[in-house]
Amino acid sequence: MNKLNETLLRNWHAVREQVDEIAVQAGRDPTTIRIVGVTKYGNAAVTRALAECGCLDLGESRPQSLWEKAPLLNDLPVRWHLIGHLQRNKVARTLPLVWMLHSLDSLRLAESLSTHALSQGGSARVLLEVNLGNESAKGGFALDQVEEALVRVSALPGITICGLMGMASLQSSHECDLDRARREFASLRTCRDQLCDQGLPEGCSLDELSMGMSGDFPAAIIEGSTILRIGSRLFEGVEV
Ligand SMILES: *Cc1c(COP(=O)(O)O)cnc(C)c1O
Repeated sequence: MNKLNETLLRNWHAVREQVDEIAVQAGRDPTTIRIVGVTKYGNAAVTRALAECGCLDLGESRPQSLWEKAPLLNDLPVRWHLIGHLQRNKVARTLPLVWMLHSLDSLRLAESLSTHALSQGGSARVLLEVNLGNESAKGGFALDQVEEALVRVSALPGITICGLMGMASLQSSHECDLDRARREFASLRTCRDQLCDQGLPEGCSLDELSMGMSGDFPAAIIEGSTILRIGSRLFEGVEV
């Protein structure tokens, strides 16, 4: 095994073990937590090496990177996740490649997804992106807009809502920021729980909570994350 594969394999196992350990401590079943390896830092060869380690959920934040890499890895059973903003003029080309879109951030995008999913004869699996810190630089629905978005999006054919996605507003290892991240993750979970209690629109589920990155995933696990999006931790010691 070469150095790249060795390092990636070690990182992948270390992250999976840490996730499992925190889940057990939090009283959760570790098999209910999916790790998406975010490969935006690496080229196609590095991405392939990570998949060969067994990290078969891969995430890209740019549609163009997905277009480039997906065909090169199509001999592997990879599930691709788009975690960054999707422009409407890129929907047609992106839709057939993604297993789950984490970043449904507007009703206009939802309408475009619906149209293209119908014409491609499939259904788009999506998460509604929530702007947890109400940061103007970030997309997504404000917490108090999620309910209406859920109703409007679930009325569109060709879209399957699977859950919610959120990012903590500051990525930093300061303790106060980790507390804040945890509070923000808790607010996403509470929002989900309230919507479920009220009764969800026909055909949609909010089982998935995509939250937690390299710097804050322990807090996200404690607050109920089912999908962690982890990039830099997996690439430590790797030249990309
Ligand atoms: C880059 C990125 C991640 C991964 O970030 P790391 O801190 O490198 O783990 C997760 N989610 C989104 C939306 C990203 O753009």
